[in-house]
Amino acid sequence: MTDILIATHNLHKLKEFKTLLEPLGYHVLGADDVGLPDIEETGTTFQENSALKATHAAKFSNMLSLADDSGLCVHALNNEPGIFSARYAAQNGGYPAVFNVLLARLKEDFSAHFTCCLCLAEPGKDPLFFEGQVQGHLTPNMDNSCSNFGFDPIFVPEGYDKTFGGLPSEVKNKISHRARALAKLVAHLKG
Ligand code: IMP
Repeated sequence: MTDILIATHNLHKLKEFKTLLEPLGYHVLGADDVGLPDIEETGTTFQENSALKATHAAKFSNMLSLADDSGLCVHALNNEPGIFSARYAAQNGGYPAVFNVLLARLKEDFSAHFTCCLCLAEPGKDPLFFEGQVQGHLTPNMDNSCSNFGFDPIFVPEGYDKTFGGLPSEVKNKISHRARALAKLVAHLKG
């Protein structure tokens, strides 16, 4: 088994990575397992932030490290909150309070997408990037019956009539931005 460190304290993200990487023979560790200190996300793009987190983790642990920078991009808001999604939620009352704050800013166009940029950093090697997106729209009919991770309860992926929060994790893990980025990473890992 190959160890891989996922540079996140977010247990929702860690669970999704475990589900997707363990069947491939990876032993998945999280930031809390190795005492990884946080690093400030000073980048201006998903790619820059994922690179900051992954290279920091690889340097600290000397392990193969993977970081995810992801966010919700709302089309009518010039793709905001984007890289600031977690901070936007925290500044607006957290979940679920932020849902109403966000929805109140929209009039007709509720379209949005999630983006995920993965950065794989191996000590001594150049970092590699893998990106995935899922298109959809926001809805005021919140559903968190299956997942209450981030904006899942109000995001309906294209082709479905339930939100990510109302879809079983097996479904989300096939079509999500993270799953799509990870599929590219897996193709790379399999060579
Ligand atoms: P990061 O940890 O800086 O990458 O911020 C990710 C933030 O984007 C999360 O805290 C959520 O607000 C949002 N986000 C990213 N991926 C998802 C997802 O799969 N479901 C719901 N919200 C997500």
